[in-house]
Amino acid sequence: MTTMKERYEQVLHRISAAAEKSGRSASDVHLVAVTKKATVEDVRQLIDLGHADFGESRVQHFTQIEAQISEYIGRRKELGKPDLTTPIRWHFIGHLQRNKCRRVVQLTRLVHSVDSLRLAEELQEIAEKKKIVVEVLLQTNISRERQKTGIAPAAVEYLLEQVGTMPNLKSRGMMCMAPYNEDPEESRPVFERCNELFKDMKKSKHCEDSFNILSMGMSNDFEVAVESGANIVRIGSALFGDDAT
Ligand SMILES: *Cc1c(COP(=O)(O)O)cnc(C)c1O
Repeated sequence: MTTMKERYEQVLHRISAAAEKSGRSASDVHLVAVTKKATVEDVRQLIDLGHADFGESRVQHFTQIEAQISEYIGRRKELGKPDLTTPIRWHFIGHLQRNKCRRVVQLTRLVHSVDSLRLAEELQEIAEKKKIVVEVLLQTNISRERQKTGIAPAAVEYLLEQVGTMPNLKSRGMMCMAPYNEDPEESRPVFERCNELFKDMKKSKHCEDSFNILSMGMSNDFEVAVESGANIVRIGSALFGDDAT
């Protein structure tokens, strides 16, 4: 059995090796620890190791674990633990149904999974009422797999233009997932295509300089994703194991 600290250091090491291999520095790539199979204790341990970015894909688990973790953050002082150097940032990474947006919006630093105009409009409406700005990534279905959500590459620019007209949404970049493959090299063309599209969009008049996040890569293919330009990787099972619940 490896410890959380060992797995965490191993993942960070692999990220920095992949960043260096592609001529970037390790600090250019951020790790989002995906909690869908993590226990609250796992997340507490990562926080104690200094980690701040966590991602969830299911609304119900998200609201539960977020509440337990904020209770823990409040209690750390009593436990005599040092103050956090960075506040915890939650990322929402899963398919978001419009009727569940309200719960997610206020707790999330970045929504990675905006995959339709209707969802963007719903988020805008909620954000306007709450008088907040919600930062989002546009999720693209590069491989056009039918079971995956995400907008078609050809429709990204139009959605970007629409989001650009919404005062309470800010598009920060793009997200994609590659189909699962034993061999991570199979993901490379998908990630490279997404990076090209990302760079094209950056040049378009609908984007500001803050359109600078490319979220791609999971436990089985994150090194290839980093080599293809990702600056956020979303990793669950390599940190928390495959069968924990
Ligand atoms: C579960 C999930 C991940 C993490 O997957 P692992 O293979 O466990 O690393 C990343 N992104 C999304 C959108 C997910 O749903």
